[in-house]
Amino acid sequence: MNKPTCVKHGNHIEIPGLATVHSHAFQRAMRGLTQRKSQHAGSFWSWRGVMYRLAERIDPDSMYAIARLAYLELAMSGVTLVGEFHYVHHQPDGTPYDNRTELADAVIRAATDVGIRICLIRTAYMRGGFQQEMTAAQRRFSDPSVDLVLQDVETLQSRYADHPLVSVGLAAHSIRAVPIAANRELAAWADARQLPFHMHVCEQRRELEESIAEHGVTPIQLLADNGILSERFVGVHSTHLNSAEIHHLTHNNCFVNLCRTTERDLGDGLPPTVELINAGAKLCVGVDSHCGENAFEEIRAIELDARSQHEARTVVGNADFLLDAGTRLGYAACGLEAVWEQDRVLLDANDLSLIGLPESHLVDGVIFNATPRAVREVYVNGQQIVENGQHPETAEIKQAYVKAIQQLFDG
Ligand SMILES: [Zn+2]
Repeated sequence: MNKPTCVKHGNHIEIPGLATVHSHAFQRAMRGLTQRKSQHAGSFWSWRGVMYRLAERIDPDSMYAIARLAYLELAMSGVTLVGEFHYVHHQPDGTPYDNRTELADAVIRAATDVGIRICLIRTAYMRGGFQQEMTAAQRRFSDPSVDLVLQDVETLQSRYADHPLVSVGLAAHSIRAVPIAANRELAAWADARQLPFHMHVCEQRRELEESIAEHGVTPIQLLADNGILSERFVGVHSTHLNSAEIHHLTHNNCFVNLCRTTERDLGDGLPPTVELINAGAKLCVGVDSHCGENAFEEIRAIELDARSQHEARTVVGNADFLLDAGTRLGYAACGLEAVWEQDRVLLDANDLSLIGLPESHLVDGVIFNATPRAVREVYVNGQQIVENGQHPETAEIKQAYVKAIQQLFDG
C-alpha cells in the first residue's frame, strides 16, 4: 500500500486528489446570510432556522444549480471526491417526488457534470427529535419507514451501478432524527453490504443532553451499546466526547470526520483531536456547510485548531499524517480506498504560496500554505477536469447559480 505524498515535477507539485467526506451542497446558498449579530445568527439552532427556510424553498433545478457551483469550487480547490450527506428528499409538503430520488439525482448530476466523484450518502431522517413535532422543513427530509430509505438506496445503487464517478452510502442523520431501533436496522443493513454508514454525532452539547434524557447515556455510548459502531462507521464532527467514547470509536476502528471550518463557523467547540489520534482514530475531513471552500485549510485546521486548544505547536503529528487524512482516509470513509491513487492534482510550484519550498519539506509546505489559487490541473478517473487553473464550464455554472439564487430568495 502506497502512502500519499507530494512529488515535484518541473514547475508542478503533484498531490493525490483531496477528499471532502461530508457536504451539504445546498447550504452553499447561505454564504453571507448568517454572519451578523441578530436573532437569526446567535447559535447553531438559529443558524439551523435559516437553513430550514432555504431547504423549504429549494427545487430540483435550484438544487442542481447550487450543487454544481459548490462542486466546481471544490474541484478548483483540488477536491476529487465529495461525500454528499443528502437529506432533502421530498416535495415541500413532504410528498415524495414521482421519481423518489429526484433531488439525489440532481446532486449526483451536479457532481458528475463538474467531473468529480460523488458518494451519495442517502440519509435517513425520521422524526423532529425526542418528543418533538416535525417542522415544515423537516417534512421534506423525513421518511416514514426504514424500508423506504433502503428502497431509495437500492434504486440509486442500480441506477448508477455502471457510473465510474458515483457510489452510494447510507446515513442516519443523528440520534435526534432517527429512533434507536431504526438506527440499529439501518446500520445492520449497511454492515451486511459493507456500505459506509455515516452519522452526525456529538456536534452540540444539547445533543448530549437530549440523548441522556431519552436513553440515559451519551450518543457514542448509545451507539456502542447497540452494536452500531464498525470499521465503516463515520462519526461526523465527534466534537464533545468523553474518554470512554473515544475508546469506543477507536476500539471499533471507526472514522472520525472533522469539519473544522464549519465547526468554527457554527461555534461547535473543539474536538479532542490529540486524544483521538493517540488512540488511533482514522481522521478525515469535510467541507460540510460550504461556509468556506479551501480544502487545504480544512486539513491544516486539524493541527492549527489543536494548537490553539493546547497552547503548543505541532501537536497532532506531522504533515504526512494530515495529507493522509485529507486524501486516502477520506476515500476509505466513502468506501473508495481502492481508487484514491487514480485521482491527482498538480499545483503550481511557483505560486506565491508555494514558491521556494525545499523538496525535503514539500508535504509540510503544501498542507500548511497551499491555496486553491495554486491548483493548476485536476485529474479524476483518468479525465482532466481542470486545465491551467480553469474549468471549461465556469461561466455557465456561475450564471445558472446566480439565476437560481435570485429565484429562491426573490420568488
Ligand atoms: Zn452535516
